[in-house]
Amino acid sequence: MGLFSAWRYFERVDQIPVAELAAAGVTCVLIDRDNTCVPRDAKVAPPAVSAWLDEVRAAGIKTCVVSNNFHGSQVEKSARELGCEVVHHAMKPAPFALRRALSLMGATADEAVMIGDQVFTDVVAGNLAGVRTILVRPQSRRDLWYTHIMRVGERLVLRGKTFEDGGER
Ligand SMILES: [Mg+2]
Repeated sequence: MGLFSAWRYFERVDQIPVAELAAAGVTCVLIDRDNTCVPRDAKVAPPAVSAWLDEVRAAGIKTCVVSNNFHGSQVEKSARELGCEVVHHAMKPAPFALRRALSLMGATADEAVMIGDQVFTDVVAGNLAGVRTILVRPQSRRDLWYTHIMRVGERLVLRGKTFEDGGER
């Protein structure tokens, strides 16, 4: 599997079947904040996302937000609202923050999954840390200016990839 390839692809976080994560031996979910949990044009996560995270924890899987966002207090507030642990200033695609999150959660790389909306930060960081990755579509079209530039390369990398739609829940 290449550096830019994710393990699975889903349209939205809340469409990822929790039972399949558990069956795949996942005990720890590391999850990006911006445009994965909280849309760039909003301050709070949609109810479906927070309900999904509750469902993950009900299955005995630990959850930790891993965010590059420089506004640490905003990230901490979201993590608290979502019931997740948090590692901010993550500097993804560097793998260090993921390793820090794993040790915080008491999980090994092979029992974790990194979920995010960007190939060149979330997926690459996961692959460098030896963690399986799930790429979701960004929740909002609003992105930081440099993310818009990365999206151009991302479209090339994602050509021909199918995003699973878990169906209506
Ligand atoms: Mg993001």
